[in-house]
Amino acid sequence: MTDIDAEIIDGNAVASEIRDDLTDAIETLADAGARPGLATVLMGDDPASETYVNMKQRDCEEVGIESYHVDVDGDAPAEELYDEIATLNEDDDVHGYIVQAPVPDHVDYREVIRRVDPAKDVDGFHPENVGRLVAGDARFRPCTPHGVQKLLEAAGVETEGADVTIVGRSDIVGKPLANLLIQKADDGNATVTVCHSRTEDLAEKTRSADVVVAAAGAPELVDGSMIGEGAVVIDVGVNRVDADNEKGYELVGDVEFESAAEKASAITPVPGGVGPMTRAMLLYNTVKAASLQEGVDVELP
Ligand code: NDP
Repeated sequence: MTDIDAEIIDGNAVASEIRDDLTDAIETLADAGARPGLATVLMGDDPASETYVNMKQRDCEEVGIESYHVDVDGDAPAEELYDEIATLNEDDDVHGYIVQAPVPDHVDYREVIRRVDPAKDVDGFHPENVGRLVAGDARFRPCTPHGVQKLLEAAGVETEGADVTIVGRSDIVGKPLANLLIQKADDGNATVTVCHSRTEDLAEKTRSADVVVAAAGAPELVDGSMIGEGAVVIDVGVNRVDADNEKGYELVGDVEFESAAEKASAITPVPGGVGPMTRAMLLYNTVKAASLQEGVDVELP
């Protein structure tokens, strides 16, 4: 019998509030003749990537962002993708775009990112945007870390002075989140420990934290024994594991939910935690990009 007292942080609800607020900002932009536009670029036919791209387009439709899509053949030379990127950089209707990862092996993703106009880089991955973020002058916060910050804020979790342990040091989650949380800012001011596959005694690092963010891509890596009493647990992980159901798989996080929830004061579920926030923050960055490019001030949530 499990005994879950932890508050379940509802990412769907928080994301929905953010989308509502963005809808107002989008109307303001549209009234000024500047409806925001987001493009997605997909090279190849990876089914998971196709699903992500479809979701992003649906999200745009719901809030009134114009969406565009570009398909590039998976066998095409990298130059074909670069040409599409150059076209998007010049297209005034497209305020932001993303090149869905992963790209095929013969294409260098870093080079792809470098070619994206930093003003339209709504993923926040371009070196200029990474540098600005580290320097405390972010133009676009990467969507997943930004979503984690918004979830913490919505759950009333003060990061100031908190010990935060992040499991994972990727360029899209762990590193930018660590950089955001150490900023001298209201939603920063944390003391951050970043763990990875070479970390010794991971459990000791997570157990002593006020906030644990798991972003390792390792199913149920963090269990209740690794969580301190009353800590806040944010599970970024989305992992497919075999299951005896119609689909043949289910999605699990990087946290063993049941045991961690027995120790935590608040915890995000998978699905329904960080995932919807990542999608909402892409819309946020698109609205911000449009506002900056069109010179129309809007209130962002
Ligand atoms: P990466 O594979 O790029 O990075 C994983 C990181 O975790 C690496 O730094 C790796 O260490 C570390 N790691 C892996 N295993 C362990 C371990 N056993 N102990 C300690 N550290 C470990 O993954 P991403 O950052 O791209 O994604 C992480 C997870 O988040 C995935 O499940 C992904 O699907 C999910 N995700 C979810 C999103 C959402 O919106 N919900 C968005 C983005 C990602 P090292 O560097 O040493 O290899």
